[in-house]
Amino acid sequence: MPFSNLGLSVTLLKALADQKYTQPYPIQQQAIPAILGGKDILGIAQTGSGKTASFVLPILQQLLDGGSTKKRHIRILVLVPTRELAIQVNDVFKTFGGHLLQPVKTLAVYGGVSINSQKNNLDQVEILVATPGRLLELISDKAISLSAIKTLVLDEADKMLNLGFQDEMKQVISLLPKNRQNLLFSATLSEDLNSINRNVLRDPMVIKVEEEEKNLDLIKQFGYLISEEKKGPLLRYILKTQKIKQVLIFTSSVHRADAVALKLNQNGIDAFAIHSKKSQAGREEALHFFKAGKVKVLVATDLMARGIDIKYLPYVINYELPRSPKDYIHRIGRTGRAESPGEAISLVSPDEEHHFKIIQKKMGKRATMIDGNAINLKGF
Ligand code: AMP
Repeated sequence: MPFSNLGLSVTLLKALADQKYTQPYPIQQQAIPAILGGKDILGIAQTGSGKTASFVLPILQQLLDGGSTKKRHIRILVLVPTRELAIQVNDVFKTFGGHLLQPVKTLAVYGGVSINSQKNNLDQVEILVATPGRLLELISDKAISLSAIKTLVLDEADKMLNLGFQDEMKQVISLLPKNRQNLLFSATLSEDLNSINRNVLRDPMVIKVEEEEKNLDLIKQFGYLISEEKKGPLLRYILKTQKIKQVLIFTSSVHRADAVALKLNQNGIDAFAIHSKKSQAGREEALHFFKAGKVKVLVATDLMARGIDIKYLPYVINYELPRSPKDYIHRIGRTGRAESPGEAISLVSPDEEHHFKIIQKKMGKRATMIDGNAINLKGF
């Protein structure tokens, strides 16, 4: 699903393209339309999931839709546990908010620095990103009022609790107008957090994004050393000799995805390719058949795979390695979900061998290496 289907305006779509956000991450696909629809959100997601943009974009959209007010008030309050996060989240608001015709003024406030310069910058601020302690100081100094808040975001709420901000959070929440939208994000759910949920959220939409690193233990990883020209036969050998029910195969380019799928079809293996150059209808058809189990093999580029929501896959094959270890982890994280173990197989050419070692080192896990060149591939 592209960003253009999520209800964002052309201005924000342009900002996304400028930032090279080509496909929404899963949390963004779910959260953006729900937030625009006025729902409260409970997002169980880590940094890296794209959670920041999942609330920044619809919030900016809502401000755009609301038009400008003559006398500006703080309308959005984002509470974060640390100074670094305050700056980071504020930067994302600035990046996307800077594209709007009427730029929205946003400010990060946090402890450990002079409160006076923050006070001087509060004029006309509509979005305030704050750590709880400094926010309460500003309130008690009457530098700000929370009476016009429309949306509250609690980002990394679990970390705020761990850092002992529970009382401050409660105090801030008690000062907010009752009628508001609440967006709560946390990496985990604890008892303390549940009590905050109950007091803050109204019938929230719960969005859970799997933490991919955690799944790595459930994934058996193999690397087949193989010459580039034998990758095709080896792939067919693996698909035919191992009892693979369904597999997602990754390639590095659109062209290669098409070529691999075509070759498989020519060899009697049902495969679809899915990538950014396919029509929307073509993508949906491929996904539909794959999800319904009617097609055994889906060949995808990284870009498409980001937006694909397939609950569980027994096998992932890297026909080519991705450039970044992060993408490798993302790819193989498509398998090994919950209690079901999965297998990730990488076809590694001599040119890729060094890179594969780096990926394993970064990941802190080793793949079992197999000499693919020693396998008799005649007839495959
Ligand atoms: P977060 O989980 O919000 O800290 O985001 C993690 C990283 O992913 C940040 O560097 C974002 O800029 C980036 N990011 C978020 N959403 C997307 C997207 N749809 N496409 C590409 N990069 C993204």
